Amino acid sequence: MNVPADDSFGPWPWPTPDSDVRIAIEQLLADGSWGRYHGPHCMALCDKLARYFAVDHVHLCSSGTSAVELALRGSNVRSGDEVILAAYDYKANFVNVLTVGARPVLVDTLPERPVLNPDLLDAALSSSTKAIICSHLHGCLAPIEQLAEFAAKHHLVLIEDACQVPGARIDRRRCGSIGHVGVLSFGGSKLLTAGRGGAVLTCDAQLAQRIRLYTERGNDAYPLSEMQAAVLLPQIKKLDENNRIRRQTVRRLRNILTTDSSIRIIWDDSLDDESAYYKVAWLTDCATSTDRDAIAKRLRSFGLPFDPAFPALHLIHAKSRFRAIGELRNAAALHAQLLTLHHPFLLAAANEVDRAAKLLDGI
Ligand SMILES: *Cc1c(COP(=O)(O)O)cnc(C)c1O
Repeated sequence: MNVPADDSFGPWPWPTPDSDVRIAIEQLLADGSWGRYHGPHCMALCDKLARYFAVDHVHLCSSGTSAVELALRGSNVRSGDEVILAAYDYKANFVNVLTVGARPVLVDTLPERPVLNPDLLDAALSSSTKAIICSHLHGCLAPIEQLAEFAAKHHLVLIEDACQVPGARIDRRRCGSIGHVGVLSFGGSKLLTAGRGGAVLTCDAQLAQRIRLYTERGNDAYPLSEMQAAVLLPQIKKLDENNRIRRQTVRRLRNILTTDSSIRIIWDDSLDDESAYYKVAWLTDCATSTDRDAIAKRLRSFGLPFDPAFPALHLIHAKSRFRAIGELRNAAALHAQLLTLHHPFLLAAANEVDRAAKLLDGI
């Protein structure tokens, strides 16, 4: 990888300056709503999200992590129950299952794809199974319709984690609205950001009511503030357009990179065409996570925002904490081989993208 010293990229700050967010903040100051418990912004955000995702109930909360916990509590998952999830998933999803007293059941991912393999659900099912958590990760959409069919057949709740893909669609439906209950994050690095925050989406009135009863203790125990809601509102308006630009960049990178490159973007023609990119998943041929980490470090030294991806859950948690289905080989391979590219780069100008693609092609 021979790159001239002046051939560097970035920085890639996030969030980027946004005049509509500035106006929203000025209005918060002008009308004093920045400091109030209640006001119009949270309600407006609920309405907007309900329409955008075509769901009946939106519950705003303090983070994506708390949204997953509330989805589990709203689904009545409790001590003695089992929850199926992929062995490659966001760590907090695993910990949330333990938090509500249930047992995580880890199944493998699809080969070279960081999403749950739906064909393994039969083997994972037990009389204690209550729910499935399925995340769409790093722009790779999960086969959620197949999972939903399985969940319906066995009377399980399907929790759809759309924290990384707000705005993505499968067969015209927004990810986060296809499962029984969906979750979003408004964390500081996410595509829709208020620094912190999250939301639970559902069409199940009883589930929504259970979440309300759990969180409402004379005061909301997992609140999202008026200030957060006010800065999120203008971002939703631009989400589809920004997602389109990010998709275009991913396509551009895929088209430029040759088959000689030792890293490649993970992509499924049948699913990923309408994805949203918080991260882009790249596969290396590394044998160990140490080798993969070294590639990430080298790419970062050029200013390209690459990171090692998640660790596989069965490799970082004590075996006594979960039940594993099979050997989880695909998840272990992702643990060693996956890199992610962070989204702010995806809004870069085309000539920057081309320059980066040439560099990546040479490694
Ligand atoms: C970020 C994220 C969450 C949790 O979001 P926070 O708001 O940071 O708690 C959950 N699931 C996935 C897949 C995420 O990427």
